[in-house]
Amino acid sequence: MQPFVLERPSDLAAALALHAQAGRNDAPAEYIAGGTDMVQLLQENVRRPVRLVSLGGLLDRGVDVGPDGLRLGAAATMAEVAAHPGVLRQFPGIAEALLASASPQVRNQATMGGNVLQRTRCPYFRDVGYAACNKREPGSGCAATSGENRWHAVLGTSDQCIAAQASDLAVALVALDAVVEVRGPRGQRAVPLEALYRLPADTPHIETVLEPGEVITAITVPPATAGWRAHYLKVRGRASFEFALVAAAVALEMDGARIREARVALGGVGTKPWRVRQVESALAGASLEPAVLERAAALAAQGARGYGRNDFKIELMQRVIVRAVETAGARA
Ligand SMILES: Cc1cc2nc3c(=O)[nH]c(=O)nc-3n(C[C@H](O)[C@H](O)[C@H](O)COP(=O)(O)OP(=O)(O)OC[C@H]3O[C@@H](n4cnc5c(N)ncnc54)[C@H](O)[C@@H]3O)c2cc1C
Ligand code: SF4
Repeated sequence: MQPFVLERPSDLAAALALHAQAGRNDAPAEYIAGGTDMVQLLQENVRRPVRLVSLGGLLDRGVDVGPDGLRLGAAATMAEVAAHPGVLRQFPGIAEALLASASPQVRNQATMGGNVLQRTRCPYFRDVGYAACNKREPGSGCAATSGENRWHAVLGTSDQCIAAQASDLAVALVALDAVVEVRGPRGQRAVPLEALYRLPADTPHIETVLEPGEVITAITVPPATAGWRAHYLKVRGRASFEFALVAAAVALEMDGARIREARVALGGVGTKPWRVRQVESALAGASLEPAVLERAAALAAQGARGYGRNDFKIELMQRVIVRAVETAGARA
């Protein structure tokens, strides 16, 4: 691990200033919140900041459910959000996604802001022993396209990078049109979570639209989908403590036995949380008949490309959508 200075500023303005100061001196700075991802990357020499700016105690950790929808303070932990009665009642898909993530220890420590900004689990990115990783070292190549890519994406990929986005929470939030509130050196702004993530294209090392030094302060979810029938289905190699091979976040507004409106986002298959609007359109007005759902789910494969060992995901994601819609639709 490269030595670094740990800064513990007393307020957010001081944190922004410390980050900007480090940037000006050409000395890279990074933020750290719960540290569950960042510390691993520091230990493995993947991240090499000169200055680490702690966000501990600086950000809101409240969870509010009301007429305006849901507001998650960026410092709220995964465990706090998953256990919140209002989240369980009105946004159960979010609680399910969180409880399907990581372990109780990690969930007690990890924050909302850190969760949606966690880095990919691509093994070539996380092991500096591999030279070819465009995300870690721009221009070095991509070891995964012709290597072990069982965990990698089939949607939104480029020749430069096929790493899957890792956060389950982000998938559930994108399905619900969540927005992130951001504060930075140039003030505050709001960004739809779906638009926060960039596709890898030719610059896979630039993962989000955040400007240098910007901090996520909160995540909001509009009230429109509160109380809809929802389900987060995660398929993985083992029952816990494991990232998604394929996941689907589904929210349905039902009209008797028919779906009036649907929201569907996929995890484990996209280089960012992947909303499948063509599937949503096909589900609107549909019954829950298996053949109808299969036809709608097949549309998720549009534009998908396998890289060998992850080819199975293209069919699996369709099955996962069908099962998640059936489960959500059957909920009272
Ligand atoms: C063993 C293990 C299993 C896991 N399994 C899963 C899983 O199944 N599903 C899943 O979704 N996740 C899983 N995770 C990942 C885990 O959810 C993340 O590590 C965690 O959510 C990150 O939150 P944190 O607060 O610890 O972030 P940190 O590690 O502190 O930070 C992560 C990144 O976010 C940045 N950051 C943090 N907060 C902010 C902010 N407010 N504004 C701007 N930048 C910020 C940091 O600079 C850093 O780049 C697992 C982790 C471990 C260790
Ligand atoms: S998939 Fe992306 S993160 Fe993984 S080795 Fe290739 S460039 Fe690096």
